[in-house]
Amino acid sequence: MHCPFCRNPDSRVVDSRTADDGSSIRRRRECPACGRRFTTVETASLSVAKRNGVTEPFSRDKIVSGVKKACQGRPVSDDDLALLAQKVEETVRASGQAEVNALDVGLAILPPLRDLDEIAYLRFASVYQAFDTLDDFEAAIARLREEDAASARSSASEASE
Ligand SMILES: [Zn+2]
Repeated sequence: MHCPFCRNPDSRVVDSRTADDGSSIRRRRECPACGRRFTTVETASLSVAKRNGVTEPFSRDKIVSGVKKACQGRPVSDDDLALLAQKVEETVRASGQAEVNALDVGLAILPPLRDLDEIAYLRFASVYQAFDTLDDFEAAIARLREEDAASARSSASEASE
């Protein structure tokens, strides 16, 4: 890595630190020619292939802005959204692929959004999964109800054990 100040083609790592969530490494480097220090950040590359064929780097900000509209008027904070975007990134990175489809990113958004707010989830799913009719909404709501009932049953059985 060359020095950004004097363009010397070599630099020395003086310190390495892994980010708290383990997703990146910051390296403090020193240029042996001019003696100045600079920092580099290393992350595994992850790109998203969109439906129109364009590929762009994965961005948590894009996840947040994509979901924000569905959360309008709902009790969802910016911190909630930041955490959701982090979960989505973890899910997508867990696939181990350097490039994922926008569709898979959308699918990775659905479960954590549902945990966050069911109304926001339904709004997002209706756009994302292209709900056309009331039947689509009713089917999605019925699925939520069934799963809520199932989780209520399982926590009731856990309580009785
Ligand atoms: Zn230098």
